[in-house]
Amino acid sequence: MSPDQDDTAPQVRIERLRTELERHNHAYYVLDAPTVPDAEYDRLFLELQRLEAAHPALASPDSPTRRVGGAVASGFGQVRHALPMLSLQNAFEEDDVLGFDRRVREAATAAGLDASALRYCGELKFDGLAISLRYESGRFVQGATRGDGAVGEDVTANLRTVRAIPLRLDGPVPRRLEIRGEVLMFRRDFERMNDAQRARGEKPFVNPRNAAAGSLRQLDPALTAQRPLRFFAYGLGDVSDDLAVPASHAALLDWFGSLGLPVGSHRCTVPDVEGLLRFYRETGARRAALPYDIDGVVYKVDQREWHEAIGYVARAPRFAIAHKFPAEEALTELLDIDVQVGRTGVLTPVARLRAVFVGGVTVTNATLHNEDELARKDLMIGDTVIVRRAGDVIPEVVRAVPEARPAQARRFTMPSRCPVCGSAAVREEGEVAWRCVGGLYCKAQRKQALLHFAQRRAMDIDGLGEKIVEQLVERDLVQTPADLYRLDAATLAGLDRMGEKSAANLAAAIAGSRTVALERFLFALGIRHVGEEIARILAVEFGGVDETLDADWAALIEAKASVQKHNARARPKGEPLLPVPLEGVGPEIMRAIQAFAAEPHNREVIAGLRAAGIEPAPPPRRRNGADASEGVGTGHVSVPAAGGVLEGRIIVVTGTLPGMARDEAEALIRQHGGSATGSVSKRTSFVLAGENPGSKIAKAIELGIPVLDLEHFFRMIGRDGQENS
Ligand code: NAD
Repeated sequence: MSPDQDDTAPQVRIERLRTELERHNHAYYVLDAPTVPDAEYDRLFLELQRLEAAHPALASPDSPTRRVGGAVASGFGQVRHALPMLSLQNAFEEDDVLGFDRRVREAATAAGLDASALRYCGELKFDGLAISLRYESGRFVQGATRGDGAVGEDVTANLRTVRAIPLRLDGPVPRRLEIRGEVLMFRRDFERMNDAQRARGEKPFVNPRNAAAGSLRQLDPALTAQRPLRFFAYGLGDVSDDLAVPASHAALLDWFGSLGLPVGSHRCTVPDVEGLLRFYRETGARRAALPYDIDGVVYKVDQREWHEAIGYVARAPRFAIAHKFPAEEALTELLDIDVQVGRTGVLTPVARLRAVFVGGVTVTNATLHNEDELARKDLMIGDTVIVRRAGDVIPEVVRAVPEARPAQARRFTMPSRCPVCGSAAVREEGEVAWRCVGGLYCKAQRKQALLHFAQRRAMDIDGLGEKIVEQLVERDLVQTPADLYRLDAATLAGLDRMGEKSAANLAAAIAGSRTVALERFLFALGIRHVGEEIARILAVEFGGVDETLDADWAALIEAKASVQKHNARARPKGEPLLPVPLEGVGPEIMRAIQAFAAEPHNREVIAGLRAAGIEPAPPPRRRNGADASEGVGTGHVSVPAAGGVLEGRIIVVTGTLPGMARDEAEALIRQHGGSATGSVSKRTSFVLAGENPGSKIAKAIELGIPVLDLEHFFRMIGRDGQENS
């Protein structure tokens, strides 16, 4: 995002940096909505500082390097600080801390102080916003933001709503006492507040710091009161001299605590830089466990009476410095988006990033989770993006920086085919993930699919474990499960950790698996959502592999939906619920079978298995144990009997009738004078439906034709249904 630095004249570059920093200051301090990470701001700031140091003639008193914070927003009263509220110098490297220590010691010595007695106090650098609290005779009377350091915003009414801020101090205090500290928000509170913000359709805050600033700087204190703000005290401002205050900074913080002011619990008092650096490392290790954000630690000369003697630089004290932690957010470029195929066929978009150092590691890619996440973040290839890595959490792309979007940025769409095997990719209704339907065929899913295929409850191939499958796939010995049946003992013996005996056993186990029950085979295919129970239902209902896959799934899905809709409606008393087609098999499963069946690769795999000699055995058709042979079996009655109760009625039978074959039911119909036909039309009198009826039900419902179950049918023909159930 920065213009090329090498061929730009220093004054041009300086001007550009100042303009850019001013823009960021406005977004950060006035709007509480920064557009770039702090690390990016710090990088530009440092560059400007260095250029100004190298070209003193180009220095300017109103450069951002000379000023504190931003302008005071209109709408608030103004408070002129009795003592300016300054910023802090930054240290990023250990060398910067060594330089700070050297300057402090030199200044102390120059002021006639004994530098060997120097102590430092180390404390947390809270990532919130600075405020000052003015107490008179121990009562809170005025609160202000830092503003531009000299004049801040009067936020007294808002600060009164912050529970962590005592309205009365607990103990003897100087008549005039100004406390300085940081208002912030705990991460957990921030997340909860942002969730609520989103739920109301309002824009979420970028981070806890800006949420805290935005919440405090509300014109309506009632709004501030609803925000979970916290406070930590870390310093003194203007104080009357009627009562002495502690002379060391560490003792000052303890005293604050005794007055009822919250202070940070992590701090240290040390005599030298080594101690400070130890504190820095320890705090860094604890950072992620703290309930609030810190962006570093602050080192201050502990002897407060030395501060004035050590003095100030442009916008910050010389007796203190902020030692920043590696940034958790950084800018980089989204070079491309790849798609990875997981073991269950889920297609995951992954951001390929220009290498960036963030959160202490170099990051080159980050998962983008799914299509919805991509859309929510509105990412385009070529975008400048903010990458975050906090603690040990995996890196994430937070968002794009819209104003940095290049003209040639392109949108990414999820592929409609699997990038690994070329099979169709589908995104099912109500799901966020796209999936490759390649199943057994897709290499990315192959190992998992083979293990699934071979497991005990499926094809039960003993000895075909993870290690073997791994080798078979890696050596390209097995493309699909059908290839397993081409492996001979000699080939298997060539695998690592495979003795002749185990190879022979495995070969025998593979050969033995050719005889398999249909439901186990259907389960072994690894059709999504088809577990053992569903496989059993399918086996009973369809009786064959082709019958299952070739079923009119679209019609079945529709039939099921119509029946369910019909059943959900208020019905006249006594009207039965319609039997639901393929009971137990939901629409999601049905769609998964449909997608599996529609994929030619899957058909090829099944043909290969058949060619390898696998012919699954269907289960016996379900008859519920009843003996329906009471003279109405197939062929007993072939013409409608005249004068029966069903005379003139045209009846369609569909589904599995409990304890009765369809042709038996049709014979009964004819025996009672009706005629049985195969398809539903306007002329149909009613449909006799059993379990798992097909698309005929949908048609009947559409035409408003009554649907009866067997029990009602029996009643109609005057026969007791119990004997058949
Ligand atoms: P700073 O935040 O780096 O340091 C000074 C501030 O530290 C103080 O004003 C005080 O509020 C705070 N602080 C926290 N704990 C403290 C403690 N224990 N003792 C003393 N002070 C403590 O400096 P700044 O001038 O407030 O802001 C500059 C920083 O703000 C930049 O380094 C950048 O990170 C960020 N910034 C970002 C953007 C952006 O667009 N992203 C824009 C402007 C500023």
